Amino acid sequence: MKTVQDYIRTIPDFPHEGIMFRDVTTLFNDPRGFRIAVDQLLHPYAGMQIDQVAGLEARGFIMGGAIAHQLSVGFLPIRKKGKLPGKTIEQAYQLEYGEAVVEVHDDALQPGDKVLLVDDLLATGGTAEAGIKLIERLGAEVIGCAFIIDLPELGGRKRLEAMGMDVHALCA
Ligand code: 5GP
Repeated sequence: MKTVQDYIRTIPDFPHEGIMFRDVTTLFNDPRGFRIAVDQLLHPYAGMQIDQVAGLEARGFIMGGAIAHQLSVGFLPIRKKGKLPGKTIEQAYQLEYGEAVVEVHDDALQPGDKVLLVDDLLATGGTAEAGIKLIERLGAEVIGCAFIIDLPELGGRKRLEAMGMDVHALCA
């Protein structure tokens, strides 16, 4: 029986030479792969209160949307700067070279909402940390951070755990 990992391929030298890019489109493409990824990501949160699922642009939208639908809760897109039409709050974070900014609408969550944060891959944790900060600035609480892939050697898990976060990933 194939595992989630078996549906993911590694493409060398994308987007730059020397990068081994984990391609999850092959997982999303496969009906069984996509189903088991959603089910397994949700498994640890069974019985917990979740009011909203937040997904990080862009592949976090695919997993997060499917998870929100499965839970019958709302979905919050955490977008790259400049894409949202309404009033936003923004959070900058460091990239290897330079800086990036993510945003959410300032009325997207209610204070006290319990939010599950979802993305496809955890590397340094900078993107997830920025998403967590936005959610917390809206007065909501991140009850878990769920990823398909964790690359532990890049330190993201330790970084999020140091913030008191619960981190769940399906493969390394
Ligand atoms: P971090 O902020 O943790 O360093 O990087 C994680 C972000 O970069 C995620 O939003 C993820 O989608 C993206 N990312 C970085 N490397 C890869 C990769 O090899 N494969 C995929 N699918 N996404 C990646």
